[in-house]
Amino acid sequence: MNEKVRCLIIGSGPAGYTAAIYASRANLSPVLYEGMEPGGQLTTTTEVENFPGYPEGITGPELMEDLKKQAQRFGTDVRFGMVTATDLSSSPYKATIDGEKTIEAETIIISTGATAKYLGLPDEKKYAGSGVSACATCDGFFYRKMTVAVVGGGDTACEEATYLAGLASKVYLIVRKNYLRASKIMQERLLSNPKIEILYEHETLGLTGDGVVQGANLVKRRGQSDESQVHIDIDGFFLAIGHTPNSNIFKPWIVTDEVGYIKTISGTPRTNIPGIFASGDVADPHYRQAITAAGTGCQAAIEAERFLSENGL
Ligand code: NDP
Repeated sequence: MNEKVRCLIIGSGPAGYTAAIYASRANLSPVLYEGMEPGGQLTTTTEVENFPGYPEGITGPELMEDLKKQAQRFGTDVRFGMVTATDLSSSPYKATIDGEKTIEAETIIISTGATAKYLGLPDEKKYAGSGVSACATCDGFFYRKMTVAVVGGGDTACEEATYLAGLASKVYLIVRKNYLRASKIMQERLLSNPKIEILYEHETLGLTGDGVVQGANLVKRRGQSDESQVHIDIDGFFLAIGHTPNSNIFKPWIVTDEVGYIKTISGTPRTNIPGIFASGDVADPHYRQAITAAGTGCQAAIEAERFLSENGL
């Protein structure tokens, strides 16, 4: 017989764990599946300086471990496993775990977050694990005193380039436009770092190297009359060009925007299906912060509690 729960939470970032804290304190006996990356994107961050309540900052993994413990303290059943499919055609809703077991749920809180994007170059696959990475915090250590490149011009790219500059001897930042999109404070940190060289109006054509990345071929001012080819010698190539929301398994039922972000009813975590709520980065193309994710996780749990009591479930 299938297991049946009142509240299923999918995802273990700040949204999922905050939803779990509120849902368990409201006696919903939530079951939370952690997914592929327990703790979510913050586990790949070093110092989190902007989560309220930590005047000295806290590391991403520590923050996530604390949130997990807090959720478990109130009785959340945190499980290692991945929701691989859903059937939201009728209530109770169904979720398949690791392609095997099915769980039925009266309410579901989707907190599956977002995943790093790649450029789509064949060389990214060719050198995966051999010089190509989408996580400076995870892999930066391997590039001590070496030369690396980071692609992107947003906050993530600036943060990763600055982090890598603390380890590597030189960091190129490859930016496709002639300006950075990152916030002023991030830009200032980057611009004041003598190890970082910004290559504005450059795009990556491919990577070179015998088994491991040893260089990148770039094009400068593509399509302009002064377009030119540039080669840089590098040991590591880091992507920091944004994220894709992890919403595919819900798409047959849940309305998303053209990128895949789940659409919620304005100012609420409600989706187009009663009893299914979305919180955190999977539904947030704008803010994508740990604190906003936590806030919407709280909202989702409160909504789930109200839904259950209004429907006598
Ligand atoms: P963004 O979407 O903000 O930036 C993506 C960057 O990658 C842009 O510069 C974009 O270029 C570039 N890019 C996208 N696609 C390509 C491509 N195919 N080739 C080359 N370059 C490309 O993503 P981030 O991950 O940087 O940030 C996401 C959100 O998270 C933001 O709201 C950010 O503020 C927040 N954030 C906050 C942090 C903090 O406060 N500590 C840290 C990290 C992120 P273009 O500008 O040309 O579009």
